[in-house]
Amino acid sequence: MAKRYHGRVRREAPCVRRAPDRMHYPGRVVRNAELAEALFQLAESHPPGELRLVFLRAAYAVFDHPRELDGARRLPDTVPLEALPTLSMLRGCRTGDALAAATQRLAGPHRLHASPAREGFLSAAEVEAGLASAGTPDVGRLRGAVHWHTRASDGAVALETMARACQRRGAAWAVVADHTRGLACVNGLDAEGIELQRRAVETWNRRHGDELRLVQGLEAEILDDGRLDLPRSARSGVLVLAAVHTGLAERRDQTGRLVRAIEEPGVWALAHPQGRLFARRPGIRANWEVVFAAAAAAGVLVEINGFPRRQDLDPTLIGLARAAACRFVLASDAHHPRHLAFDATAVALAARGGAAEAAIVNFEPLDHLASGRPDLDLP
Ligand SMILES: [Zn+2]
Ligand SMILES: [Zn+2]
Repeated sequence: MAKRYHGRVRREAPCVRRAPDRMHYPGRVVRNAELAEALFQLAESHPPGELRLVFLRAAYAVFDHPRELDGARRLPDTVPLEALPTLSMLRGCRTGDALAAATQRLAGPHRLHASPAREGFLSAAEVEAGLASAGTPDVGRLRGAVHWHTRASDGAVALETMARACQRRGAAWAVVADHTRGLACVNGLDAEGIELQRRAVETWNRRHGDELRLVQGLEAEILDDGRLDLPRSARSGVLVLAAVHTGLAERRDQTGRLVRAIEEPGVWALAHPQGRLFARRPGIRANWEVVFAAAAAAGVLVEINGFPRRQDLDPTLIGLARAAACRFVLASDAHHPRHLAFDATAVALAARGGAAEAAIVNFEPLDHLASGRPDLDLP
């Protein structure tokens, strides 16, 4: 399975994604994910210019629409007018083959092709349907809001504003995770900033700790050799989320870099392990079985990042991590209070990957946060 991620299978044109259960529902029209993929491929089949932009905007509008468009009377307002005839035509296709044929007919001068940077992402409609389906953990039972940013690094608002927003969403505890001042983040916290934030967290807990318990985390940078940009002395008393932000476009194998980071003292979680971004980059290459075995052995949590353009890990890799007996932490990676809702996307991803509620720390009380990790020196 992991091998597939070393050499991704490229599909030949026309290669519009087909829903796996299509054959069982012969009357069903195509899903938003497939429609969006057709529009992305159409966009890329045209040279840079107005037409390409129109199809791209339509693709994102369909991908981000929270309900499947089959049976919908109205198309989303976010679809550009110029793309409406094309979208209506594609939407009329009743099978994957018909959609592929229609896409081929409408294609511009360049070859249609799938992109690995779009593989394994859930459309907004798939996220919503996943959340509503039986067996998916209930978002309302989430207790911990993990991995969000404040304006101390690249977030939009102050710590207290984010904390109040977590509280309004029903969290009982929350882990702020601003960036450290690494190679990739000039706005990150230095030693003084970390200390200032520690005091702000203490102040919050003194005043409001009964309603929402705040814990200081840090999103530390995994350097090229797998060490962290955070000195050992700065790791005590905080939850360290180690994350890769550099070398993401390189096609070399980064197993060693990730394993070294997992084994660094004081690491609590491996944040957005793939470093992928929707329609931009597929993420790093690694032997994920080895990475997840190392995380399970070290008791390091594997993050499922629900920021919609990240969706990191993808469901297939969540399944691999689950098979390796990893435990998970769900993250919104919020940079604004309204992003805190992205932990629902992480819940949908977890469910799609088969991660059980019992393996997800966010559903547990605060005192389980670092269970099995007596080495973590927490206040
Ligand atoms: Zn990050
Ligand atoms: Zn982050």
